[in-house]
Amino acid sequence: MPSPTVEELKARALRRIDQHREEIIGLAKSVLQEPEPGYTEVKTAQKVSQALARLGIPHQTGIALTGIKGYIPGGAGPGPTVAVMGELDSLRVPDHPHADRSTGAAHACGHHAQLGMLLGAVIGLTDPEVLRNLSGRIAVIAVPAEEFIDAEFRYRLRQEGKIGFLGGKQEFIRLGAFDDVDMAMMCHTTSAPEDGKLAVGGTSNGHIVKLVTFLGRAAHAGSSPWKGVNALNAANIALMALHTQRETLRDEDHVRFHGIMTAGGVAVSSVPAEVRLEWRVRAGTNEALEGANAKANRCFKAGALAVGATVRITSIAGYLPLLNNPLLQEVFLANAQRLVGKEGVVVHPPDRNRGGSTDMGDVSHILPVLHPYAGGARGTGHGNDYLVYDYELAVLNPAKAMALTVIDLLANGAVKAKEVKERFRPRLSKADYLRLQESRMGEEVYRGE
Ligand SMILES: [Zn+2]
Ligand SMILES: [Zn+2]
Repeated sequence: MPSPTVEELKARALRRIDQHREEIIGLAKSVLQEPEPGYTEVKTAQKVSQALARLGIPHQTGIALTGIKGYIPGGAGPGPTVAVMGELDSLRVPDHPHADRSTGAAHACGHHAQLGMLLGAVIGLTDPEVLRNLSGRIAVIAVPAEEFIDAEFRYRLRQEGKIGFLGGKQEFIRLGAFDDVDMAMMCHTTSAPEDGKLAVGGTSNGHIVKLVTFLGRAAHAGSSPWKGVNALNAANIALMALHTQRETLRDEDHVRFHGIMTAGGVAVSSVPAEVRLEWRVRAGTNEALEGANAKANRCFKAGALAVGATVRITSIAGYLPLLNNPLLQEVFLANAQRLVGKEGVVVHPPDRNRGGSTDMGDVSHILPVLHPYAGGARGTGHGNDYLVYDYELAVLNPAKAMALTVIDLLANGAVKAKEVKERFRPRLSKADYLRLQESRMGEEVYRGE
């Protein structure tokens, strides 16, 4: 019997995904109903694990607390390992229509759709005839904690030795979960009309996370405020100082300073003695990021100095800018165009910065990576109106595009995957990556007395 053509394999994968559409969309919708923020995705991980078990895919659970990794060996001999990935975690947007009432957790970034895509791609690729003709293997990866939220909670996990980095893929890198992976891809939903039905290209900001604690002294706020040191005033001045930096920032560096106050005092009748900020510094290049981070540190100290408070600045390694691999992009693009037509696919230039950040950026400094976007969502990303309205666009299409891309990579003796691997020049070795990110971790205490 002659071996089937790549075209025949693709047709089989597409058919199988369509046959299982209820199950694939069902997983996404089930995850939507029970959102869990990073490093607490217990039920979500269970759902993914059960779906993989039903397909007979052996996998490990509990990697980086809640992550999952399994392997599907191809039947045509050895070759590279291609990872297909999805993100397990939700955000917290308490007034989102699908928010968990007690935790405020909500899928306002569409990660539930990613798990549907992951399952869909895996279902397409596990067609026995498809698998028999693929070389190498597929790694199936569900990662925790992409949204960089709950920094105080996660920093505590780090101090307790339960994690080393606060982002899930960072932690996967540290634990060696990418050591045997040669290239990786995932797809994110988008509500931006300029992304069309499927979008490739573009980059993201790098970032550094700041936990900032202003320490003053409590005193009666009515009778003797002069006996206190007002930590809230220190924080206010620091934030004003941060605003004054904006004219020093170049547009092309995409610098963002933003954050929240996680504690602003405890009783209105006391001079606030402890005020905490969870802050973020973002920029498009590592150099711009380091520069902006130094400015932020200066501003936090300025607040403490002005009122004679103390400030403790804890810096935490955030993400690196995303580098999409051009060869992987080329393969994905052709499949995307086949699925939704040439006019349905948008190609962004590599330097188009979305402003946000993803830990796929970290992976992309070490491995060839692809992080395209899929339409089918509407509303504002991370807002209370961000909803997936079309599961065909948001789940099935990207699942198909990823499955077809894996077939192109691993069919014909995995010649394409081998080419991607051979032509890739990593920006950082794993050791250099770990050194860079560890160097961004640190604590500084400044006394403004
Ligand atoms: Zn997000
Ligand atoms: Zn996201």
